[in-house]
Amino acid sequence: MNRPRTLIVGAGISGLALAKALLDRGLSVDVVERRAEDEQATLGTGLYLPANAVRALRGIGVGDAMAKLAEPVVRQRLHEHRGRPLAEFGVDRIWGDVGPCLAITRGELHEVLRTSVDASVVRHDTTVTEVAQDRTVTFADGTTDTYDLVVGADGINSAVRRSLFGGPEPRFLGQLCWRFVADGTTTPAMTDWTARLGTKGRTFLTVQLGAGRVYCYADINSFVPTAPPGDWRTLFADFGGPVPRLLEQGANAHFAALHESVNTVWTRPGVALVGDAAHAFSPSMAQGGAMALEDALVLADALGTTPDISAALAAFQARRAGRVAWVVSQNHRRDKARNLPTPLRNFTLRRAGERMFKANHAPLHTRP
Ligand SMILES: Cc1cc2nc3c(=O)[nH]c(=O)nc-3n(C[C@H](O)[C@H](O)[C@H](O)COP(=O)(O)OP(=O)(O)OC[C@H]3O[C@@H](n4cnc5c(N)ncnc54)[C@H](O)[C@@H]3O)c2cc1C
Repeated sequence: MNRPRTLIVGAGISGLALAKALLDRGLSVDVVERRAEDEQATLGTGLYLPANAVRALRGIGVGDAMAKLAEPVVRQRLHEHRGRPLAEFGVDRIWGDVGPCLAITRGELHEVLRTSVDASVVRHDTTVTEVAQDRTVTFADGTTDTYDLVVGADGINSAVRRSLFGGPEPRFLGQLCWRFVADGTTTPAMTDWTARLGTKGRTFLTVQLGAGRVYCYADINSFVPTAPPGDWRTLFADFGGPVPRLLEQGANAHFAALHESVNTVWTRPGVALVGDAAHAFSPSMAQGGAMALEDALVLADALGTTPDISAALAAFQARRAGRVAWVVSQNHRRDKARNLPTPLRNFTLRRAGERMFKANHAPLHTRP
């Protein structure tokens, strides 16, 4: 079978990247997306893209388009919540020659990926409700179609995963977050990536997006996956530096309860999961986008190398398992570290911040 009928469910980061990579390898593909096209372009806030994500974007062939819109992130700074520095290092110390790190809005990244794929390939306003063992796909309007290959790129609550893979439901990680993009021109000069670490697991991260915009990400620990009553910004009232001025702009921040969903089996006959559908973790290492893009590249490589779908899916699973497991374990370590007593955490970061960041990214230097 040279040109299998392939359906990608979901036109997010992983779905669009996979579509582009498969089309570039001469394979045909259909993508369905439940959201309307204009709704997708305005989704979300900012994204930090570590060097392995940027390398994968270059591999997919959208490196130049990215470079035009994204802002380079050159340094990372860790401060305690009032602004005293704990650690600071250039991202080249962490990533070596893997390449630059970038920051971009989600909408802009989506636009770069969307315009790289022939528009006729993506069908919007189309929701998959179920996939049967024989790869017959049922859509929300009641119609059905059968494919040779179905790829679930449909995010953490994947309908493809639920239909065919079972496995545990996404698990609440005990963290709540708020995100918004602020006008950074009204605050003291802010550059690059700065995380301000408070007590009780609170973090306020700022990432420079260029054109005076700053991506703000704030999180706290919580026993329940619901927003506490009242104005969330009071939870960060003791933070110093530019945070109070930025919070003035955060009234309509996006709220999310953070969940993890990590299956270890991502393939079955004629079906694969990529991106968050396969493995969604806490954003503490900002590796979600990178893993989604790497999945897309590796799966496209495997499918482009052999017409045998089963062999390609087995190769994909084998190449991705160890790397994703590493990211999951590092995320867990980082999530534990945020709950260390504050003096111990600060001492550790002062003494070994750069070394720790370097060590927990080192295995990602190799190509996926
Ligand atoms: C708070 C937060 C901050 C983050 N920050 C970063 C960061 O800074 N850097 C980074 O790299 N990563 C970050 N991530 C992770 C990153 O957002 C995800 O890993 C990435 O979006 C996964 O892409 P995806 O395409 O697999 O899934 P998604 O982005 O979830 O896309 C899935 C797509 O499928 C569609 N869909 C869903 N169900 C169906 C259906 N049944 N039928 C049809 N279509 C469907 C959805 O509408 C969506 O468009 C963050 C995550 C969170 C929660």
